[in-house]
Amino acid sequence: MISHSSSPPGTTVDLSLTEAERDKILAHAAKFDPPGVTTADGRRDLVGMSREELAVEMAAIGEAPFRVKQLWHWIYHQGVIDFARMSTIARPLQEKLAERFIIGRPEAARVQTSEDATRKFLFRFRDGQEAETVYIPDLDEDRGAVCISSQVGCTLSCRFCHTGTQTLVRNLAAPEIVGQFMAARDSYGEWPSPKGETPRLLSTIVLMGMGEPLYNYANVAKAMKIVMDNEGIGLSRRRITLSTSGVVPMMDRCGSELGLCLAVSLHAVRDDLRDELIPLNRKYPIAELLAACRRYPGASNARRITFEYVMLKGVNDSEADARELVRLIAGMPAKVNLIPFNPWPGTKFARSSRLAIDRFSRIVNDAGYASPVRRPRGQDILAACGQLRTDGMRTRAGAA
Ligand code: SF4
Repeated sequence: MISHSSSPPGTTVDLSLTEAERDKILAHAAKFDPPGVTTADGRRDLVGMSREELAVEMAAIGEAPFRVKQLWHWIYHQGVIDFARMSTIARPLQEKLAERFIIGRPEAARVQTSEDATRKFLFRFRDGQEAETVYIPDLDEDRGAVCISSQVGCTLSCRFCHTGTQTLVRNLAAPEIVGQFMAARDSYGEWPSPKGETPRLLSTIVLMGMGEPLYNYANVAKAMKIVMDNEGIGLSRRRITLSTSGVVPMMDRCGSELGLCLAVSLHAVRDDLRDELIPLNRKYPIAELLAACRRYPGASNARRITFEYVMLKGVNDSEADARELVRLIAGMPAKVNLIPFNPWPGTKFARSSRLAIDRFSRIVNDAGYASPVRRPRGQDILAACGQLRTDGMRTRAGAA
């Protein structure tokens, strides 16, 4: 039990996070399970299967275990989607594989490229559901981040978030999560996977798109293990950031099992305001969230925890807020990303003024924490997360 000054005076916070609590979250997530990996014609998608699952599939068709390594190389290193291109596999086996399996990709229902080269994809999955993926190139160097969705819609209803206005339809499956990254790489022709420190155009993953990744932990974890596998895509854990609104019990598991970099959507420094902006705060208030950050495995000055803070005019952008933020994260290896709010139709929030953002940033910076202000990107395309999907649904409804 700890007490914390962001809780009402005299209260304590129970940190005895039990396995049972995690099991409850995982069981709830299972209710939104994605459909299986079998296609309409009965073939199975090999993308998103673990090595163990691939081994079971190969054994079932009488193939030796070494086929797993071969397939892994072709699927995740070479990026092929056609068995006929697997030159180390004899033609009869290529044909046998093609009869039973596919190497799937989500269909790009819409692709928009911004004047600043940000590219937004609306990917459609086999059951017709859609989710967004965004590639944000670095403007100075040949590298960039791919922002990936973990759910179709979201349960959390964060007030400033456009995706939060969409109800949760279902979780994305591991093939759909890995598939977003692979399809984005197809779009830039970045195959075979660059090895080691060779520069990559699609160099980092941020699990920051639609959905709360820790409410779909099993599929996200499976997908990220595939992405990190050295014989395939080989993206190191230092290059993958998972962003959570604060599903405290799963943060521990994510840190110890996957070791990904952590970003936390903080957005408010008082529980009363955070309760309103991020209703999940009522369950896991600021003190519990920050305690989970402090014990997050692997956090260090080289791997700082990122606090995301959306700048909402007159709501959370005062100098007092900035000073309280500094107090809350004192002693933590952390940085603070300030995000000028991206307004979307129907929102009641407005973007903080440049002056307010600069003042906030200076206070955080002077306290020794990097506090970059995120440059708005993709302003000429539907920039707020979730907007492209809503727009697509509206267009289809209009056409019906
Ligand atoms: S900010 Fe993230 S967790 Fe909150 S509603 Fe939007 S998508 Fe969901």
